[in-house]
Amino acid sequence: MGLRTFVGGVHPAPSKGRTGDSPVVTAPLPQKVVIPLAQGGAPCDPLVKVGDKVQVGQKIGESQAFVSAPVHASISGNVTAIEPVACPNGRTSLAVVIESDGNDIWLNTTGGSSLDAMSPADIKGLVREAGLVGMGGAMFPTHVKISPPPGKSFDAVIINGAECEPYLTCDQRLLVEETESIVLGLKAWLKVTGAKKGYIGIEDNKREAIAAIKAAVTEEKDIEVVPLMTKFPQGSEKQLIASILGREVPSGGLPVDAGALVQNVGTTYALSQAITAGKPLVERVVTVTGTPLKKPLNIRTRIGTLFSDLLSFCELDGEIGKLISGGPMMGIAQTRADVPVLKGTSGILVLSPQEARPLPERACIRCGRCVDACPIGLIPTLLDQYCRHEMWEQATQGHVADCIECGSCAYVCPSKRHLVPALRLGKAEVMAQRRRKK
Ligand code: SF4
Ligand code: SF4
Repeated sequence: MGLRTFVGGVHPAPSKGRTGDSPVVTAPLPQKVVIPLAQGGAPCDPLVKVGDKVQVGQKIGESQAFVSAPVHASISGNVTAIEPVACPNGRTSLAVVIESDGNDIWLNTTGGSSLDAMSPADIKGLVREAGLVGMGGAMFPTHVKISPPPGKSFDAVIINGAECEPYLTCDQRLLVEETESIVLGLKAWLKVTGAKKGYIGIEDNKREAIAAIKAAVTEEKDIEVVPLMTKFPQGSEKQLIASILGREVPSGGLPVDAGALVQNVGTTYALSQAITAGKPLVERVVTVTGTPLKKPLNIRTRIGTLFSDLLSFCELDGEIGKLISGGPMMGIAQTRADVPVLKGTSGILVLSPQEARPLPERACIRCGRCVDACPIGLIPTLLDQYCRHEMWEQATQGHVADCIECGSCAYVCPSKRHLVPALRLGKAEVMAQRRRKK
């Protein structure tokens, strides 16, 4: 039987060779962290003030809103500022700045539990208290994601081990090095949702990860490892559900409409850490890579560490042509390096000036390659025109709101049309119009 996959998509060079086989290393404790209070849903209110001493794991921000996740101190030390900062996701957020005392003192917690001892309600409460969010980039609060609306339920949980974005290898390393924890986390998702079957989808170019996970689940009859064709954007939720379950998430719908819960590898690992060690989400693994770095690495680092600190740790040796938070397909270009690692920062990519040289945009030649590449079945060339000319009704009818901003259309475009910025803008406008109507 062939490898499972989805319709459309593209095959960019994986470019994972420099870090794919590199075990995760732990970054030195930062002197300072900048912890944005908006990291998943509604922004939190600060629970500390300037001058306070904090310990690692102490809750420093919380919101009463349901769609919000609390944030915690990631180092011990003194709160030196609470101020607006630029974030790598392009937003500005109020942030708590902590200067380290160098002691790395952790807040006393209960020290963890065991999954068997926990009820589904216990797990759901822990997910919120630990501040878990989607760690693939979107940072949607996980306790909301695991709470289906009335009348809907999950019958399958999928761990997203595709990591289809070029250059990024942090999930791949977690699958290899923290195999037991990932399996425990998956069992916790099954328990909290009541779903009967768990899947771990991994692209077939990550053979070590597939072998490690397969070996760990030989006795687990409710868990299946699914090797997937290496193709972008295999890690997108809708494409993963299509590839593994053969189900379609309806236009405007959510994975729960197809009975599926998709969870990121990092989030699943964070859940297992919360269960077994009582640890809230204060650190994550980030792939820091690119040709101007002497030592590209997968780094375990505290949330709030500045990109510039990690670039120094990786021995930046050359001019930065482009700095990206995430990968080259769906990442966000940065104008400065003093931005903090967020819960959703999976990678930091540095391109040389030569690699980053922009290609001039030319007129569309109606070749249709973008249409073939779109995994959602949209017509990017038409949507591009609608969005550039603010034809919102046509853009709505063309389902611009379903665009997942994967960039596959732009990747194959021979005219180098800047399709994604136009579609992103159109999508935001159409969604805003819908909200206003409601
Ligand atoms: S139109 Fe949107 S979903 Fe389709 S390929 Fe382009 S960016 Fe991806
Ligand atoms: S791939 Fe580019 S040139 Fe071809 S139809 Fe799409 S937008 Fe036009």
